[in-house]
Amino acid sequence: MAPWPGGAPFALFLSHDIDHVHDREMWRILADLNHIRRMILKGEGKRARMATARVGRAILNPKPPLRAFDAILRAEAQFGFKSTFFLLHDHYWARHGARYRLGDRVVREVVDLIVSAGCELGLHGGYYKINDTDAYRASRDVIAREFGIAPVGVRNHYLRLDGERTWRAQADAGFNYDSTFGHRDQLGPKEGRVRPFWVGAPPGCDHRGLVELPLSLMDVALFRCAGFDGEQALDAAWQAIGPVIAGGGLVTLLWHNTYFDEPEYWDWQWVYERLLERLAALNPWCATGAEIDQWWRKWQEGRAKASGQPGPPSA
Ligand SMILES: [Zn+2]
Repeated sequence: MAPWPGGAPFALFLSHDIDHVHDREMWRILADLNHIRRMILKGEGKRARMATARVGRAILNPKPPLRAFDAILRAEAQFGFKSTFFLLHDHYWARHGARYRLGDRVVREVVDLIVSAGCELGLHGGYYKINDTDAYRASRDVIAREFGIAPVGVRNHYLRLDGERTWRAQADAGFNYDSTFGHRDQLGPKEGRVRPFWVGAPPGCDHRGLVELPLSLMDVALFRCAGFDGEQALDAAWQAIGPVIAGGGLVTLLWHNTYFDEPEYWDWQWVYERLLERLAALNPWCATGAEIDQWWRKWQEGRAKASGQPGPPSA
C-alpha cells in the first residue's frame, strides 16, 4: 500500500473533462437530439422527455457558462478539495471534435475561474490523433500560448486509448501523466488497477515515461450506461469505489461540467456532492493530478534508492 502524504488512508483525484462550455451550440444540440432519438427507439420515454426539456431550455434560455464551473468549485471548496480540468483541443468541424474554441472569450473566463481556485488545467486530448506526438505537442503549445500554462497532464476524449502507443506519444510530447485508463461503460476500476502505474517507456529506455492515474468512476457510465438515477446511483457509485478506498488506492472521479447546474439532470450533481461528503469524512489526500504525479515519482525514487536500484529521473 502506498503511504500517502499525511498518513491519509487513500488518495483522491477529482477531475472534469470539459467537452462543452456553451449551452446553446449547434453541435451539442444535434448530439442531444440524436441521443433523444436513441432513447425513444429504446422505449425510454421518461428520459427522452427530460432530455427534450433540456434541449428546449438550452435553445430558449441558455444558462451562463460559468455557472456549472461555479457549482463544481463551490462543492469541492466546502471540503478543502481541488480538482483538475481537462481542456479539449481538437477540430471544431468534426463529428467527435471540440465544441468550443480555445480563443473564445468564455473559455478564458472559465480558465481564470479554475486557476484562481487553485485547480489544475490539463489537456483533454482530441479524438482523432491519439497516437500522434506532434498533435499532443501542438495542443499543449496552444494552451500554453492562450493561457500561459503548459499542461503536464492529459486525458483523451471518450477515454480513447491505444495502450503503449498512445502513452508513448504523450510521453514524447512532454506530458508527465495520463488519466485515460478506465471504463467508459462500466463502474469501478478497469482491470482492478487502483494505484498509479508507469506507462509509456520503450523497452530498454532508462526513463519511466508517464505516470498513469487510473480512473475509478465516470458519471456517464453511472447514469447513461448503467442507467441509475438518484439514491440508486449514489449507492452504485459508492459500491464501485469501495474497493479502491479499502485497498488504500487512488480514487479518481470524472464528472463532466456539462451536468452541473442542470435542473433536468439534477442527480448527476447531487451524487457528486454526496460522494464528496462521504469521501471527506474518511480524510483522504485530495490533490490535483500534477501533485499526485509529482508525489508518486518521488515516492518511487525513494523506494528505488532504498533497494539499491537506479530510480527514475525527477520530473
Ligand atoms: Zn471528452
